[in-house]
Amino acid sequence: MKDCIFCKIVAGEIPSAKVYEDGEMLVFRDIAPVANIHLLAVPKEHFATVAELDDRRAALAGGMLRTIGAHAHEWGLEGGYRLVVNQGEAAGQTVPHLHIHILGGEPLPWGK
Ligand code: 5GP
Ligand code: ZN
Repeated sequence: MKDCIFCKIVAGEIPSAKVYEDGEMLVFRDIAPVANIHLLAVPKEHFATVAELDDRRAALAGGMLRTIGAHAHEWGLEGGYRLVVNQGEAAGQTVPHLHIHILGGEPLPWGK
């Protein structure tokens, strides 16, 4: 999608520190990390929120979770990690392209 930062990262038009890529998704380092390890997993397809999941996209999202689970240890997250998916303005979603924050590399306090 034109003017979407994450579509531009997927297309290679904006550089990113990639840690994983396959046909469906990309995982790269957040530019402003809030934990020692802060990765973003994005689908290559543009859509903004889980409200836009149909059956095909639900399978895609499930596949993303499975891939994260399978590769987390390679990314230094063997001690545990947190997945966060901000949805909409009140949750602080700033990029309208679905993304899963992957946080870890340190003990994480729980909060809202
Ligand atoms: P949100 O607030 O929408 O849940 O998360 C968006 C995230 O994208 C933020 O954590 C922000 O730091 C990250 N981000 C925004 N622009 C860029 C960029 O150009 N490159 C990378 N690697 N991360 C970005
Ligand atoms: Zn996009």
